[in-house]
Amino acid sequence: MKAGIASIRKELAGIYSGGEIESLIFLIFEKLKGYSRTQYLLAADEKLSEEELIRIEEIVARLKNHEPIQYILGETEFYGLPFYSVPGVLIPRPETEELVQWIIQENQLPAPTILDMGTGTGCIAIALRKNILKSTVIACDVSPVCIETARRNSDLNSAGISVIEYDMLKQIPEISLPELDIVVSNPPYVRETEKVKMEKNVLEYEPELALFVPDERPLLFYERIADFARKNLRNGGRLYFEINEAFGHECTEMLQEKGFSDVKLRKDIHGKDRMVGCRLLKA
Ligand code: GLN
Repeated sequence: MKAGIASIRKELAGIYSGGEIESLIFLIFEKLKGYSRTQYLLAADEKLSEEELIRIEEIVARLKNHEPIQYILGETEFYGLPFYSVPGVLIPRPETEELVQWIIQENQLPAPTILDMGTGTGCIAIALRKNILKSTVIACDVSPVCIETARRNSDLNSAGISVIEYDMLKQIPEISLPELDIVVSNPPYVRETEKVKMEKNVLEYEPELALFVPDERPLLFYERIADFARKNLRNGGRLYFEINEAFGHECTEMLQEKGFSDVKLRKDIHGKDRMVGCRLLKA
């Protein structure tokens, strides 16, 4: 393995940082051999088969084109759980784990009903289902590949969430839901003009549908979801969003204007406004 590792380091140098390269190497061997971190460290002297060497070469060639490792390997991890990761479906992000953690901490109520809007891989919905006891979790998405992937991920994690088709902008198909305790969403929030500062691996490989909003309507999805939540949340129910760091104040104001109470803005681990949570208190 030593020689294989040295050659990956050499091929990827200059394209990825040293730290990134080491994580990539571990992920490759985890996938190829099923090794844990310790097994990987102990296996340095093992010989690699011809097939393994060819597979590594293929992976490295794709990495050199900036293709995300999650798509190359077909899987990733979110909140300590495994997820299939395929093109057309946004790769789960660490910031979103922070949102999930907040919701879990704040909602250990008995058997809540939760809806995740624009679920992608299903990562938020499944992580909540696995960590909030007796929760019923419904996830929706407009994209067929997301619906299929979220269902596969639910099976992979024995989560038993329901995944349904729903276009939140057009509001079709019409859906009728039980009264909800929690609505959560990480909708598209990157403005078209922000493309210039984005990395190749995101821009060239990840789905535009999950990422972008028109410059002139940055809160498009948030407004729709807030209206939807007003109709479908029970009295005292909560709404949570992941947000664009540039729109913390606009987002909290919009929620207050729409009648939500207790609106809280939270920063992510990098100190950026990233999450909003609020409650619906009906008169
Ligand atoms: N945080 C993601 C990114 O910057 C965007 C996720 C989203 O639009 N919901 O790539």
